[in-house]
Parts: sequence; structure tokens; C-alpha cells
Amino acid sequence: MTLAARDQQVIWHPYTQMKTAAPPIPIVRGEGALLFSENGEVYIDAVSSWWVNLHGHAHPYIAEKVAEQLRTLEHVIFAGFTHPAAVELAERLLQVLPDSQSRIFYSDNGSTAVEVALKMAIQYWHNQGVAKTRIIAFRDSYHGDTFGAMAVSARSTFTAPFQQYLFEVDFIDVPVPGREQETLAQLETLLQENNKAAFIYEPLVLGTAGMVMYAPDILDKLVALCQQHQVLTIADEVMTGFGRTGRTFASHYLSHTPDIVCLSKGLTGGTMALGVTSCSRQLYEAFLHDDKTKTFFHGHSYTANPIACAAGLASLDLLLQPETQRQISRICSSHGAFAARIKTLPYVKEVRQQGTILAIEFETATTSYFNNLRDTLYNYALQQGVVLRPLGNIIYCIPPYCITTEQLTRVYETMEGMHSLVSSHSAQ
Ligand SMILES: *Cc1c(COP(=O)(O)O)cnc(C)c1O
Repeated sequence: MTLAARDQQVIWHPYTQMKTAAPPIPIVRGEGALLFSENGEVYIDAVSSWWVNLHGHAHPYIAEKVAEQLRTLEHVIFAGFTHPAAVELAERLLQVLPDSQSRIFYSDNGSTAVEVALKMAIQYWHNQGVAKTRIIAFRDSYHGDTFGAMAVSARSTFTAPFQQYLFEVDFIDVPVPGREQETLAQLETLLQENNKAAFIYEPLVLGTAGMVMYAPDILDKLVALCQQHQVLTIADEVMTGFGRTGRTFASHYLSHTPDIVCLSKGLTGGTMALGVTSCSRQLYEAFLHDDKTKTFFHGHSYTANPIACAAGLASLDLLLQPETQRQISRICSSHGAFAARIKTLPYVKEVRQQGTILAIEFETATTSYFNNLRDTLYNYALQQGVVLRPLGNIIYCIPPYCITTEQLTRVYETMEGMHSLVSSHSAQ
């Protein structure tokens, strides 16, 4: 039996309608931006394997550091104990995070990093006896798949079955270009009520919403407004972190710094699952008390797993090398040139770019995740040997930084080739 056939006997895949899904593509090896299948096909990973991979697959330096850690200490309980990899990664993250950040709390993934952030923010006020409990979020946001993260995310088909179990949230519109004043006014209205605990946002780019982008200037104003009203700000940098937007963190484009930052995805360079929630000194100090009920009672079995922390340290080493920074700049300018060329084509509704993230929104009758154009585009890209996962009629590229110029050109050609599929689709 093939690997795909064995898979189909025993596995349930994420975000997949198992009844109609095509057999999964069996990948047996990865190198750089390339994935190699059991049948000898080669794919360019233009989506960094769901936005996690920074330096390419099976990177020898990360592999070496992880192997070393595995032979030294694979795991240790993190309550009452510590270890070098966790301490060093925390020290080094605080050197690159916005200045306001002072403590690192480890968890397992992006969703748990968000859960931790929400619980920290709500308990921050609770510990001080202040009645601030409501969360503000963007209407189209995505913060993860656990219940708290779902509650602060877009209420959609994904969350509909759970609607009655999701806590109430105050949603504001994403301040896309031309709509900034509306969002500012919505936030001002919400802040008149003195019950808001925190504002959580994906800075500059809303990934799952379809790589929806907005300007640093308006986000800076929203964050400033929250600070004026003593509302905590939570930057969910799970996708935007580690160079994706052209700077190490999207928050670096702002002059106002958040109280809490969530990290995952690129944190280990795409090697292991690991989440981080960092916070300001002020937030941390609200949990220091002789009264034990003010403790932050949260933790996961694998908190600060040493192997994951070692992967995080190795990935950070690579990220900060001048060579990688040059690669990031090269991708940014090459995306820019491609965007300028393609944006005038018919059926191209909008081309958006923020740093290494490039998105093309095609003109179709409806804009939705379930747009049937999606499967046509996805399969076309695979036939071209490129992994691109459209979000409905939106196609995007978020490549590993090691992608070569030739590979990037292939990705652009594939995206451009989709244009004729869209026009014939629209003509039907
Ligand atoms: C992917 C993502 C998450 C969830 O991370 P997981 O590791 O998939 O749980 C949260 N926030 C944002 C902005 C994301 O893109």
C-alpha cells in the first residue's frame, strides 16, 4: 500500500473535508525551499508549510543544535526547575522584542500563546479588583482554534457550531486604506465604556482573513488610544513575527509598544511547535503578591521544552545573520517589482504586499473561503510544482527566506498563470 492509502485508513487531517479531499501528497524529504514526494515529484514550498518555515527544510544548523540538545536534556518539568535553553532564548527574545517587553511565558503553539495572553490580560485587572473584562478585536481576525482564541476571532463558518460557547467580544472593523476613520471612531465609542480589559490585533497583516493589510500609522493611533484609556494591547505576532513584514516584528513599525506579544510559527524556524507570550514589567508585577490566589495558574506539560527552545535559538542565530537579512530585503524588493507588474492585469482586483508577504486578490463573483475557484488554483499550482494554498480567490506567497531567485520566479510565473484560469472561470 502507498503511504497516501495507509494515511487514508487512519488519519484525520486539519481543515480538510475528508469525504471529498484528494489523497494527501506524501512528502519524504525536504531541503531548502523544496519538498520531495515519495513518487519523485518536487514542490517549491511557497507558503512555508503553513507560514512556519523561515530558513528552509531540514536545515543542517538547526538539525545539529536540536540533536545536541536531544543528547543533553530532552525535557524537564518547568515549574520549580529551569534549563539553559529556556533562559537563553528568553534573554535573546527580549533583546529583539519591542522595548516594553520584560518577561517570557512559554507554551505550545500560537493558539496557546493567545490563550495565555487573554488570561494574563483578564487576570491583570482581576488581581487589582478592577472591573475590566471585555476584549476588543478586529472583526475579520484569526487568533487560533482553541475556545478563547476562537472567541476573539472572526465569527464565521469555522466557529458557527460553537457560537453559544464563545464569550462576547467587542469587534471593530479592520482599518484598511480609506476606512481608517471609521475604525478609529468605533474604538473611541467602545472606550467610552470603562469595562475593556484589552485590545488584541494581528499587526499590519491579517493572515487567515486573506492577507488583509493596513497601515502602521492607523495601528499606532489605535494602540495609543487604548493606552490613554488604560486598556491593555496584545500584538498577535504569531504570523508576522521574525522578519515576515520586512522588520523583525511588525510592532517595530509603530512608535507605541504593546503590553503583550504572542509568538509561535517562525519562532523555531518551523522545526517544532513552541509558543511564547511576552509581557511588560507592569503586567508581570500585577501577579506578584503574598496572596497566592493572584498567581497565574496556567501551564502545559511541555512548557519550555528544551528541544523546541534549542530550535528557537538556532533559528534566531540564522535570522540575525547579515546573509538572511539580505535575503529578506531581496524578497521584499522582488515582491514589489512583481506586484507593480501584475496589478494592472484584468481580473486582478488588488495586489497587496507587506515585506515578504505578497497577496493577489482576483476579481470573482464572490469573495469567500469556499469560492470554488480555490480548488482550481490550488491544483494548477501543484501541477506546476508549487505549493500555494489560496484563501478563496486570494492567492498569496510567504516563502522561506532561503528561496532562490529562480524558485521565486517560478512561483511568480505560477501566480501569473492563474490569471487565465480566473478569466475562463469568470466567463462561465
Ligand atoms: C496561525 C495563527 C495562530 C494560531 O497558531 P497555531 O500554532 O496554529 O495554534 C494565531 N494567531 C495568528 C495570527 C496566526 O496566524
